[in-house]
Amino acid sequence: MAKTVLITGSTSGIGLATAKAFAAKGYNVAFNGLEENGAAIAAEVAATYKVGHIFSPANMLHADEIKAFVHQAQTELGPIDVLINNAGIQFVAPVEDFPEEKWDDIIAINLTATFIATKAVWPQMKERKFGRVINIASAHGLIASAFKGAYVAAKHGVVGFTKVMALEGGQFGITCNAICPGYVFTPIVDKQIGAQMQAHNMSREEVINKVMLSEHAIKEFIPVETIASTILYLADSDAGATITGIAMPLDAGWTAH
Ligand code: NAD
Repeated sequence: MAKTVLITGSTSGIGLATAKAFAAKGYNVAFNGLEENGAAIAAEVAATYKVGHIFSPANMLHADEIKAFVHQAQTELGPIDVLINNAGIQFVAPVEDFPEEKWDDIIAINLTATFIATKAVWPQMKERKFGRVINIASAHGLIASAFKGAYVAAKHGVVGFTKVMALEGGQFGITCNAICPGYVFTPIVDKQIGAQMQAHNMSREEVINKVMLSEHAIKEFIPVETIASTILYLADSDAGATITGIAMPLDAGWTAH
C-alpha cells in the first residue's frame, strides 16, 4: 500500500518541491496552501507522478481547519506516515514598529499550527508504531537576525517542540526532526527583499548580497530540491529510523560563524 505524506503549505516553494519528491517515490500526498490555484497545482503533481492526493485550503491560523484537514487526509488517503510542518510566513520590522497582529499570526502559523497538526496525527502514528514528523524551522531557529523578532521566536519554539516530540515518540517508532535552512529563493524570501530594503535603507542587490547571502559561507541561495531530498532522507531511509530530535542546519555554512 502506498504511504501517505501530509505537507502544510505545499502549493509553493519548499513544500511544493517536497511534495514532488515524495510523489516521485510513490507517496500519496495531502496538499495544503493558500495559493489561489492550489487545487490545480496539487492535481498536476499527482497526475504527473500517478499518485493519490487531496488538496485542502485549511488556514493554519485556525486549529479546527487543521484538524479537519488531517482527518480528511486519513479518511481519503489512509494513515499518515509522514507529517511535514512547513507552512510559514515572515514579517520584518524593528520591534517598536512590529504590529502585534503580525506577531500573533507568525506564532500561530509557524509554531502553533505545528503543534496542532502533530497532535492530530500522533494517536494513529502511536497505534501503528510508525511516524516521521519533520518540522521546517530555519537557521533562525538556531540564531537571530535583527528585525525578525516574531519569526526567530517562533522558529526557536519549533526547534524546542521538535526535541520534546522526539522524546515522546521514541518508544513508539515515531521520529521528529527539524530542518534549519538558510536562504532559499522562494516567494517568502522574494517578498522579504522589499521589507529589508526599507528596514536597512538598501537597494535590492545590496539586500541580497549584504544581508542575505553575506551570512552564507557558500554565497548562493539553497535550492528547494536540496531541502526536499534531505526531508526524504529523514523520512524514508534506514538512517532516518534512528535520527531523532535534531535541528539540522541546511544553511550553506551560515551557523558555522
Ligand atoms: P512560500 O511562501 O513559498 O511557501 C509558504 C507556504 O505556506 C505557501 O504554500 C503558503 O500558501 C502557505 N501558507 C502561508 N500561510 C498559511 C496559512 N495561514 N495557512 C495555510 N498555508 C499557509 O515559502 P517557503 O520559502 O517555501 O517557506 C516554507 C517554510 O520554510 C516556511 O516555514 C519558512 O519559514 C521556511 N523557511 C524558508 C526559508 C527560505 O529562505 N525560503 C528559509 C528557512 C526556512
